[in-house]
Amino acid sequence: MILNNEKIIKALEYIKSEDDNTTQETLTMCQIPAPSHQEKKKAEYVLEKFKEIGLLNVHMDAVWNVLGTWPGDGDGPVIMLAAHTDTVFPIDTDVTVKKEGSRYYCPGINDDTHAVAEIMAVAKAMVRYDIHAHGDIIFCANVCEEGLGDLKGVKYIFNNDNNIDAFVSVDNPVTGGVVYTATGSHRYKVTFTGNGGHSFADFGLPNPIHAMGRAIAKISDFKAPKLPKTTFNVGVIEGGTSVNTISASASMLMDIRSDSDEELERLTEEFMNAVESAVEEENARWDADKPQVKADIEVKGVRPAGTQDPDCPIVTAAFDAARMLGIEPELRDESSTDANIPISMGIPAITIGRGGNEGGVHTVHEWFEPVESWLGPQRDLILILLLAGFEDVAEPVIKKR
Ligand SMILES: [Zn+2]
Repeated sequence: MILNNEKIIKALEYIKSEDDNTTQETLTMCQIPAPSHQEKKKAEYVLEKFKEIGLLNVHMDAVWNVLGTWPGDGDGPVIMLAAHTDTVFPIDTDVTVKKEGSRYYCPGINDDTHAVAEIMAVAKAMVRYDIHAHGDIIFCANVCEEGLGDLKGVKYIFNNDNNIDAFVSVDNPVTGGVVYTATGSHRYKVTFTGNGGHSFADFGLPNPIHAMGRAIAKISDFKAPKLPKTTFNVGVIEGGTSVNTISASASMLMDIRSDSDEELERLTEEFMNAVESAVEEENARWDADKPQVKADIEVKGVRPAGTQDPDCPIVTAAFDAARMLGIEPELRDESSTDANIPISMGIPAITIGRGGNEGGVHTVHEWFEPVESWLGPQRDLILILLLAGFEDVAEPVIKKR
């Protein structure tokens, strides 16, 4: 039993005793602005911390992911424990921490800054008590998890040479939460353009806004299965200058999501066809010698889909680790996370919850309350040891690729 191991008992106690420092680290880091694609300063901070802790091969890669390795004592599976440095908040957002009662308020304080502090706490405990799993543990503070980041950080890691056998991201509001599916998404911006003119004097010109309306009408009638869950949405429309102007342009943002890549592809094709025929119909509606409307489709994001068995070893291990500490584990629905990339490649991966209480995620009123927050990193430590194997008390549940 892993909890009876002398080193583990000490490491868990240490993580608990370090909890104020972990909170302090969270407060320091969340005051470094780090929107997706602008995480460099925060990443540099993490880089120094990883070195200070004593991880090996600490480096920042080309896209500003920060990685550090704690070597295994055998040739067990390689496990990556990750948390993301980026936030959804623009660079000029006020990120001064405010304390009210026992709550700390700061945009991005939980998602996912507190998780970065958590994985540092895990690394510290492993180094301090010389805890080596059978396989290497790679600690990773990755960039670009949030919408506009389009998983750039984790895509970079898995698209380049790597020997990672399983991936765990700490990025869920419920400590015992386990996300095991990967909802894929395709996002597009469609810009309809035309000559534009006066609504009365130039009447008879094909109209970009009307063409967009035709496209949206078609999209509204799309069919999507309940299972695998598949959705579509035109989320933003823009365009037009005045009520009596035939606009020269109009644009819309389209979001298609599914747990199945086939459904994603099918709906994407229907969407492309809808835009094309909307343009054709709008042009055909008016005289052929008039300047025509065109549509340009720009890809804004692609996240691959994938599923795992809810009873697969990595999920079971996450449940076991939580229960050992008295945390109630639960399967969660939010399913577009950094784990999407490894899941879509068939590599075992999950996203698990952060410690402590939290709320207001993705709003400027985001707050963190350090209540039993040490349970997060304690569970993370046990989980990675179960996955990679530890001494003679835990056989690795992950197989090497
Ligand atoms: Zn997040």
